Amino acid sequence: MDGHRVDGDGQWVELGDGVFARRHAELDLTVGLVMGGERALVVDTRGDERQGAELAAAVRSVTRLPLAVAITHAHFDHCFGSAAFLPAPVHAHPRCRAAMVATAVRQRETWTDRYRALGDDATAAALAGTDPPLPDAPPGPVELGGRTVDLLDLGAGHTDHDLVIHVPDAGVVFAGDLVEQGAPPDLTDAVVAAWPGTLSALLALGPRLVVPGHGDPVDTTFVAEQRDRLGDVADLHAAVLRGELDPSEADRRSPYPGVAWPTHR
Ligand SMILES: [Zn+2]
Repeated sequence: MDGHRVDGDGQWVELGDGVFARRHAELDLTVGLVMGGERALVVDTRGDERQGAELAAAVRSVTRLPLAVAITHAHFDHCFGSAAFLPAPVHAHPRCRAAMVATAVRQRETWTDRYRALGDDATAAALAGTDPPLPDAPPGPVELGGRTVDLLDLGAGHTDHDLVIHVPDAGVVFAGDLVEQGAPPDLTDAVVAAWPGTLSALLALGPRLVVPGHGDPVDTTFVAEQRDRLGDVADLHAAVLRGELDPSEADRRSPYPGVAWPTHR
């Protein structure tokens, strides 16, 4: 996707008619914006109130239309910036809300400490002061005016509540962290046994471009290769769970050696 590469931070990249990705240096995060005739949909809201406000201002430089928000999953970098978009409805998988309730405090503490350790006191302070609003709207079709976007539960994978945003008329899918470009997939909260099947369901949508939660937009060949590698990870993980394979040997054989294994089944 060299033609779409953006070197600067926070640049909109048009992937199709009225469909944009926005890339960020911070965590290499990628968010989205889908324009309709009457409303626009924001996909993910960045990682704290300050970043969310920056994104909201950037959205307002593109459109004054009323907004809706879709959250791909409950990891802080995708959803802690939602306050800046209220009173827009915040769509998510039903389990996303529960995951935020269960994990927001821990995520905030862990990452505030991490930013402080990195010497990024501004981001640490912004995150420490962020109490993210919870999603309040379901998956399903969202009518934007002359364009319908589908918010889909295609199965678990990166988490147990991944939401996929499909823009059928543009052939674009926003995959959240079900797809990762530029770094290995994050397995920490994964339901790794289900992940390959979920990516097969995503590929069955027949997208022209798939926007990952981190990195550059990719094509279906990239997604199929990542699915197959995750299939290998799932097989290794299952063998470890059955007691047939030593974890260190599984890591040696993994297509993503050194990546932390799932913390639950
Ligand atoms: Zn994530």
